Amino acid sequence: MVYSEQEFLQSNARRLSAAGVESPYFEVQLLMALAVKVDRIKIIAGIGRPFTDQEIGTFLSHIDRRCKREPLAYIRGSQEFYGLDFKVSSATLIPRPETEILVEFAIKKAAKFPDCTVIDVGTGTGCIAISVAVNVPNANVIGIDKSLEAVSVARENVKKLSPKIDGKVMVVQSDMLSAILSNSVDILLSNPPYIPTKEIRDLEPEISRYEPKLALDGGKDGFDFHKQLIKESKRVLKPGGWLAVEVALGQAESLQKLYEKADFVNTKRLKDLSGIDRVVVGQLKDDQ
Ligand code: GLN
Repeated sequence: MVYSEQEFLQSNARRLSAAGVESPYFEVQLLMALAVKVDRIKIIAGIGRPFTDQEIGTFLSHIDRRCKREPLAYIRGSQEFYGLDFKVSSATLIPRPETEILVEFAIKKAAKFPDCTVIDVGTGTGCIAISVAVNVPNANVIGIDKSLEAVSVARENVKKLSPKIDGKVMVVQSDMLSAILSNSVDILLSNPPYIPTKEIRDLEPEISRYEPKLALDGGKDGFDFHKQLIKESKRVLKPGGWLAVEVALGQAESLQKLYEKADFVNTKRLKDLSGIDRVVVGQLKDDQ
């Protein structure tokens, strides 16, 4: 890379840094790579020619967006999750690595059912539903979302990843579980909105300004959807079926108690890689 290009990238990294972006040099390389349509390593090594005006224009417009703290995933339009590349839009939550625990749990449990019906409530990009379908040959998966825009993104992801999922994922627009038959589900998964309403404005601007409130806001104490899910899951789960739900920091113990009060057995809290209780699971009592 010639000196003036280095200097150009460095001055834009300083802009990102002044806007509060945490890894400005890394992000500048990523955004330049996105504009030039090469891997980041090529930007570090030099692409062997000057950047074109068009590449510089695209890069600068992305830098402007990032300076306003728009998440990188929205600028790029995609996010990796469970080894797959998902389209994201401002109508969908950006998939997070800690949510992969839910997927792992479902894959392990699904192996025990001969034919397994899995539901993902609040599917967003469809990342949970699709990752389960890719990894569980005997699963039929339904992703549900209240937002029509999210449903359309999830359907695009189903289409994009269709060679890997072989028609096993359906995406439905519905408010919670109203579209689902009683007593029909083996595994119910959800990463629901769980942030207490008042805490949303204190989150990083990437989240509070850009991610959809519908995907974040769990009501006054953050438990609105957790409670609703327990109630509705008792209707749709088969006896012995599993409920597994992601929680916010500090919610796991209370949610586990709510599961137990609602006749779920074998309840457990699963930790994420930082050692935080991140998912609560339980099995609907099987009286027979
Ligand atoms: N299921 C999606 C995810 O985990 C969206 C969750 C949501 O919108 N709350 O990323």
